[in-house]
Amino acid sequence: MTITKDSAVFFHYTLTDDDGNTLDQSPEGQPLGYLHGYKNIIPGLESQLEGKTVGDKFKAVIEPADAYGEHQAEGVQEISHEHFQGVDTIEVGMQFQAQAENGHPINARVIDVADDKVTVDLNHPLAGKQLTFDVEITDIREATEEELAHGHIHGDGGVHH
Ligand code: ZN
Repeated sequence: MTITKDSAVFFHYTLTDDDGNTLDQSPEGQPLGYLHGYKNIIPGLESQLEGKTVGDKFKAVIEPADAYGEHQAEGVQEISHEHFQGVDTIEVGMQFQAQAENGHPINARVIDVADDKVTVDLNHPLAGKQLTFDVEITDIREATEEELAHGHIHGDGGVHH
């Protein structure tokens, strides 16, 4: 069985950045599961998984545009300390949820703290980065009708609900 639309796919991965730093990896014995063809994972990785089969190991190098997008300069904003009322200490690296103009929550990170302002970055932490995935495919099965209706897989490696 090869990976095609509607496949439930399970794979182990190690994610590294341009400098070879490991950013993330699937835990031992717990491969990540996803439903192929539903944008559950970044597009650059999904397209390279297409047609692969169980046991395949490969390295996928993915440009920012096919991963978490380019880093947008307008995503870096300076805001006043007043926005952090109730927060004891504002530190670089702190993450919090802000509200976009359309009301949707967006994740923000503090990247600089000065006396008069705090600089935050609303970009995804991996925006602008070229990502390398070392992938090993451990299982492929047909998705159930319920999974297809939900657009994601259920059970181990997937969504529990
Ligand atoms: Zn579901």
